[in-house]
Amino acid sequence: MHDAYPDYEYKRITDITVEDLHSMGARAVAVDLDNTTVLDSTLHPPGGVREWLQTIRQAGFPVIIISNTYPIRAWLLSKKFGRLPWISFAGKPNTSAFFKAAKMLQVEVEDIAMIGDRLFTDVMGANKAGAISVKVNPFKPEKLFAERFRRERKKEHEYLEKRRRERHGENHIFGRKTERNK
Ligand SMILES: [Mg+2]
Repeated sequence: MHDAYPDYEYKRITDITVEDLHSMGARAVAVDLDNTTVLDSTLHPPGGVREWLQTIRQAGFPVIIISNTYPIRAWLLSKKFGRLPWISFAGKPNTSAFFKAAKMLQVEVEDIAMIGDRLFTDVMGANKAGAISVKVNPFKPEKLFAERFRRERKKEHEYLEKRRRERHGENHIFGRKTERNK
């Protein structure tokens, strides 16, 4: 199995600063939709997300949506977020969407910071493609398919805890920002 350990971790997308992106070596930003920029299965970004996207873009970072959702929804959210370029049915953790995004934004895939809430799609896909993987906590538990998601979250949690202990020892505190995963 490919590495699903994130290069960086934050609570919310809005906690990531322009300076952070620079220090990661990012030149472009890719964002997930559900639970990263909008509440699960909705068209509603929580407060601050639209402003954050605007700040990041004004700082010179091109931003693209890379989502496994269906096209109409990605398109609607692209419009809501100020006409971001978007890729739907991305099939994360497959890497093709990341390379397509790099081409669309005219950057190298290594320059892209992929921000998402899922280890085995967003983070694993970014790692496989060679992009910078940035994990955020999901906004709230999903209502749809609650049981399946609960199991997947549990798997993610166990995976992260195990990898953190391997990396940082038994005393590592859950939720701390990690150093670059090298
Ligand atoms: Mg998500």
